[in-house]
Amino acid sequence: MILDKRVDGRTKLTGLIGNPVEHTVSPVIHNSLFSYLGINGVYLPLKTEATQLEAAVRGLAALGFTGFNVTIPYKEAICGLLDEADEEVKLLGTANTVRIRDGRLYGYNTDGTGFVTAFKKQTGTDFSGKKVCILGAGGTARTLAVKVVQEGAGRVCIINRTVSKAEVIAGYINNRLSAGSGLREPVFTLMPGTERAREILNSFDIIINTTSVGMFPNTDASPVEDDVEFLSKPIVYDVIYNPAETRFLAAARQKGCRVFNGAGMLLWQGIRAFEIWMEISVPDDVLQDLSASFLKCMEA
Ligand code: NAP
Repeated sequence: MILDKRVDGRTKLTGLIGNPVEHTVSPVIHNSLFSYLGINGVYLPLKTEATQLEAAVRGLAALGFTGFNVTIPYKEAICGLLDEADEEVKLLGTANTVRIRDGRLYGYNTDGTGFVTAFKKQTGTDFSGKKVCILGAGGTARTLAVKVVQEGAGRVCIINRTVSKAEVIAGYINNRLSAGSGLREPVFTLMPGTERAREILNSFDIIINTTSVGMFPNTDASPVEDDVEFLSKPIVYDVIYNPAETRFLAAARQKGCRVFNGAGMLLWQGIRAFEIWMEISVPDDVLQDLSASFLKCMEA
């Protein structure tokens, strides 16, 4: 027998709390980084019931965990348990990363920077002056809408079936973030399926799906009608990564758009979380190697 000596009394403990966590691929990112960088650490999925959230979080601090990620449905609830929150968490009201130091909980949100990093690296372009359409108005939509406005997007249209939720996000950004944008109200909202919504899908530069429509196992569904033409040939991004190509992305690709799935966002939010926990910058060559292997693995 080959003895497995990877875990010992000095192993740094990290993990993911959420529910469900059965299908998470985050351990692949973090455990690959631990091995590749020769850091004695481990990342574990930690399924947590809602009634046990506070007990679980206190337990991780008591057991000396270095930090943890937070996923659905606790990204908002975790904020009430933090000792300190960074600016991003204060702005968004959600956290996906917690660093534990001397028993205190420090909250971060790496989803937005993960998305922007992935988008820029994968597309070779940025948001400056761009017209961006966001489908959906949940937690991810809010994070990405704030981020693209901060990144200098010209106009942002949020399309959601519950349009009141889109209006809340638009109002929040227009009131708090639009000062430097040169536009009085950079964010506006529409109902899906309307003529105006169709015009946006045919004329904007970037379209991002943040709804869960099309995600496994409901892979036959799409957040837009099948006959949308995408006439302006926008960059089309879907934050879903399972399946690797949603019905929405397949339709956009067939109509000549460059399309990207959410694997890059997942990867880069994870890398940023890892850097926060380990208090390091992962070297560029390691990032390139990890990125190539991970994105290939996610296409398979
Ligand atoms: P959320 O807060 O629950 O929001 C879900 C959104 O989807 C809402 O806008 C909701 O519309 C819409 N929606 C759900 N079912 C719909 C349907 N049948 N028809 C039309 N709209 C529907 O969820 P979230 O946390 O933002 O997550 C959204 C997606 O992002 C998930 O697929 C998640 O896996 C993915 N995600 C990916 C990453 C990554 O790293 N790639 C990170 C975070 C999240 P209503 O407002 O009308 O209910």
